[in-house]
Amino acid sequence: MTAAFPNLTVVGHPLVQHKLTRLRDRTTGTRDFKALVSEISMLMAYEATQDLALENVTVETPLEGMTGRHLAGKKLALVPILRAGLGMVDGITQLVPHARVGHIGLYRDHDTLEPVDYYFKIPGSGEDRLFLVLDPMLATGGSACQAVAALKHAGATRIRFVCLVAAPEGVRRMLAQHPDVPVFAAALDRGLDARGYILPGLGDAGDRLFGTT
Ligand code: URA
Repeated sequence: MTAAFPNLTVVGHPLVQHKLTRLRDRTTGTRDFKALVSEISMLMAYEATQDLALENVTVETPLEGMTGRHLAGKKLALVPILRAGLGMVDGITQLVPHARVGHIGLYRDHDTLEPVDYYFKIPGSGEDRLFLVLDPMLATGGSACQAVAALKHAGATRIRFVCLVAAPEGVRRMLAQHPDVPVFAAALDRGLDARGYILPGLGDAGDRLFGTT
């Protein structure tokens, strides 16, 4: 968190930073890129879920009974923004296998840079369910804000946004439109170019994940 961005947590863990640098490298191919996105996402989710509520539960070890703790409340929901957000799901479900997965389809109009939605399907939003919205890049913040607004409209009250690289413009827009939504990123980059790409960034995350150009 910084004074300018009280909504932002940059995960500075050495493993995250090491993997992020490999991700940024233009010579990293699709197969490694996909694996790295998955691994970083898992580590980011570890941070973004560190205050999940627990409740007591009794368990029999092979030796005796004891009171352990397990997660309380509704199962976590992962909501990737299509399509690049899909690359973050596998890593996180390795960590939280029972997580529900919703999908929000948004694409960015290349001229206006504004999001246009075409798909919305999420698990029931019962009051206490925590939603992690996933998109590797928080650029202008247009898609992120629209996705969060759509989730809120559907009844979600606990939402966090998890990305890999954020631009100040996107974090600022999230803070202005959704100050209740914490943002987790592996890096806060310098800014955006004229096409809305993050600088220095890592290029087009969707294309690099799926091997399209
Ligand atoms: N989306 C991407 O994939 N990359 C960027 O730099 C910005 C938005």
